[in-house]
Amino acid sequence: MGLIVQKYGGTSMGSTERIAQVAKRVAKWVRAGHQVVVVPSAMSGETNRLLALAKELAPGKLTQDYFREQDMLAATGEQASSALLAIALQAEGLPAVSYAGWQVPIRTSNAYTKARIDSIDDARVRADLDAGKVVIITGFQGVDEGGNITTLGRGGSDTSAVAVAAALKADEALIFTDVDGVYTTDPRIVPEARRQNTISFEEMLEMASLGSKVLQIRSVEFAGKYKVPMRVLSSFTPWDIDINEEAKSGTLITFEEDEHMEKAVVSGIAFARDEAKISVLGVPDKPGIAYQILGAVADANVEVDVIIQNVSKDGKTDFSFTVNRGDYAKTIDLLKDKILPALGAADVIGDPKICKVSIVGIGMRSHVGVASKMFRVLSEEGINIMMISTSEIKTSVVIDEKYMELAVRALHRAFDLDQPVAA
Ligand code: ADP
Ligand code: ASP
Ligand code: MG
Repeated sequence: MGLIVQKYGGTSMGSTERIAQVAKRVAKWVRAGHQVVVVPSAMSGETNRLLALAKELAPGKLTQDYFREQDMLAATGEQASSALLAIALQAEGLPAVSYAGWQVPIRTSNAYTKARIDSIDDARVRADLDAGKVVIITGFQGVDEGGNITTLGRGGSDTSAVAVAAALKADEALIFTDVDGVYTTDPRIVPEARRQNTISFEEMLEMASLGSKVLQIRSVEFAGKYKVPMRVLSSFTPWDIDINEEAKSGTLITFEEDEHMEKAVVSGIAFARDEAKISVLGVPDKPGIAYQILGAVADANVEVDVIIQNVSKDGKTDFSFTVNRGDYAKTIDLLKDKILPALGAADVIGDPKICKVSIVGIGMRSHVGVASKMFRVLSEEGINIMMISTSEIKTSVVIDEKYMELAVRALHRAFDLDQPVAA
């Protein structure tokens, strides 16, 4: 008997029928003697719908005041699904209560649309659990010091769930979603992708940071920091599946490397579609240039990913980096208006249709030639590599977006990820 946090994603909460199924599944866990806290996402499509409504009314430059209201609006998606789930649980005969993030409260920074969780007050939740209630806490949101509602970035309900699990010292965070675990790559792109029974924390962190949207990266960071056992599993199995079987299903994120993991040189392929590349050309090659360019970009709250500075020629160099596609126009404008004249650079150019494909594996630490094999596979497919970035356990390439699926499939095959792992 334990304390379990269960998170249900948008598709899992996608209709009243689905919510009723979630209620039955939760009731099964409660009747087996567990205390359960549920963290739901908004019903599928709802967050996008709300964000699109806001955009319709604000075509111009988006301000902080706008983002405050956007968070206020987007947070309602989870408020609705949470209340619906509480009602469905009550209909199942279970006492249940739902809370919005601010009611718990889940305290966050005030960075609208990408706030970070600072602390969670567990008193109210514990009192309800002790009184035998199922507690439902909205995913994706919290409240800043000034009492403003904030949201945690797309996919943020994963992070809410793991943070709640950490605060309550729960026995496990179960992330119920529309696939039955973490695969070698997105099974919607590569049907031959294989589900992994376990994945190391480090690999999961890389996969999430490199674009695998099955888990939001911050949820994995929280799990690592507070050692929260975390499992990704399907909400699309019949709700009355045996609870012991369910408890072992899906993919467990592990904090210890086992021998078997050492064997997989490359264990997964991640990709990020919505990226854009920007180059500042003819920059004088002198100290402080990277800081001037990237400092201005950071001040505009734009996250920079892969960065390359070319060898200089005649005292001038080219400086390239990637950003999220949503930040592309804003970053180009900023560089043209402020940086180009200040630095005396020649031009700012860009390509908003690029993507990043990465191979990940802790076995890469002890094997050479993995990156070169990746480059060979891509060259055999006629795919041009624009940028490369490596770390101990990953190699990423930036390529034209139109080759993304081809690259992922070819790499998946070349690294034998469709083959069963040798014992
Ligand atoms: P939820 O709404 O439950 O949070 P998401 O759509 O955010 O679900 O995440 C689940 C999706 O992540 C899957 O439907 C799948 O398409 C995608 N995905 C990407 N990479 C992987 C992977 N390596 N393993 C499993 N799913 C993946
Ligand atoms: N509803 C939010 C989103 O669509 C948060 C989540 O689903 O995790 O991004
Ligand atoms: Mg998600």
